[in-house]
Amino acid sequence: MADLPESCDVLIVGGGPAGLAAAARLKRLGVGAVHLLERESETGGIPRHCAHSPYGLREFGRLMSGPAFARRLTAATVAAGAYLHRQATVTALHPGGRVSLTTPEGVAEVTARAVLLATGVRETPRAPRLVGGTRPGGVLNTGALQGLVHLDGLKPFDRPLIVGTEPVAFSALLTCRQAGMRPVAMVEPAARITARAPFRAVPLALGVPVWLGTALVAIHGTERVEAVTLAAGGTCREVSVDGVVFTGGFRPENALLRASHLAVDPGTRGPQVDQYGRCSDPAYFAAGNLLRAVETAGWCWAEGRAVGRAIVAHLAGRLPPREAAQAVTVEGAGLAWVLPQRIAPPGGPPAALPRLQVRAAKVFDGDLLLGGRRHRLVARPERRMTFDLPGFGETAIRLQPR
Ligand SMILES: Cc1cc2nc3c(=O)[nH]c(=O)nc-3n(C[C@H](O)[C@H](O)[C@H](O)COP(=O)(O)OP(=O)(O)OC[C@H]3O[C@@H](n4cnc5c(N)ncnc54)[C@H](O)[C@@H]3O)c2cc1C
Repeated sequence: MADLPESCDVLIVGGGPAGLAAAARLKRLGVGAVHLLERESETGGIPRHCAHSPYGLREFGRLMSGPAFARRLTAATVAAGAYLHRQATVTALHPGGRVSLTTPEGVAEVTARAVLLATGVRETPRAPRLVGGTRPGGVLNTGALQGLVHLDGLKPFDRPLIVGTEPVAFSALLTCRQAGMRPVAMVEPAARITARAPFRAVPLALGVPVWLGTALVAIHGTERVEAVTLAAGGTCREVSVDGVVFTGGFRPENALLRASHLAVDPGTRGPQVDQYGRCSDPAYFAAGNLLRAVETAGWCWAEGRAVGRAIVAHLAGRLPPREAAQAVTVEGAGLAWVLPQRIAPPGGPPAALPRLQVRAAKVFDGDLLLGGRRHRLVARPERRMTFDLPGFGETAIRLQPR
């Protein structure tokens, strides 16, 4: 592995599907020195500990497990000629592409002509969910559960409660069953599951009940979880479990951003970007789930490649000016966020984010007016919705409930 230089052409922060795909694409398009920094001891990101399929179909033309996909992405990036630095954690972002980091050898700074941020997402842990009771061991997020099971070969509990019904909750369910655990139930405060209907078959097939309209209000136990209090229909009951898995409630891994000079979008909580994935400081770009919570590995991989292509255009001076970009505005309530949040003037290469992505804040039934067109919108939170990218001068969105 090459030593970390003081300067390079492109520096990538985060070695998940988005960062690795971008690094490989940049090298294949002829960029000189491309260095990727990953805080873990291995690259691959979240798929490293998702031992189930389906991964890899779009990227490599065959079904793979998450770890196999992570290894294949890493090998492809190294083969393309990018330099990967593990156990290298970026600690600060400075104007103009200067980045501070720590490694086992100490602290360092690198300045790049372009920096790509690809630090992914994390799930909401227990504390912000305001669950009462005691603080015993055995309370995990899906990511931690999968890390313990698939990377460390551990079985952290036998009869956990799974909290949430986003797609990742079903991933947690499968992980439990692969490791020989029998989840007591999945609970969801809403009246229906958040994931799309086909996911309902998973708990059914595994014999795990799904309790809708049910909230977790307290966790009990001294050393380990012993029971939980659940509330449904105005009454509470205690249920015996030996662990709790909090799933979903994704948010971009944005600690670096919030402490930096870069503009953060209040909706996505990721960086504010234009259609090239370019941040408010044009030396910085972003791709993958950092842009928004949450998309699939395949989506993030494709996004990394596309933003890599935009960075090549940036290095060649072919992107339209960032400061001339127009804000995408939303009139009317109902949307949680839009992406991209800025549209740069025409005249540049094809957009790296070729569709306007939106998510509903709550169930919405109405019309979305964009660029002189009316789109019927029946939206639910956490469901992917995309529209043609607005043209320059047409960046106002209007929402009309029915
Ligand atoms: C628990 C869980 C399960 C999931 N299951 C699936 C699934 O089954 N299928 C699917 O398609 N998607 C799944 N997802 C979505 C998943 O996030 C995406 O599939 C994909 O991994 C996103 O790619 P990414 O490159 O944007 O981010 P990530 O894969 O999250 O990679 C980001 C990388 O950045 C690194 N990093 C973060 N901060 C720093 C820093 N300061 N310095 C250096 N490195 C840093 C992280 O260590 C990580 O390796 C899951 C997500 C979670 C959280």
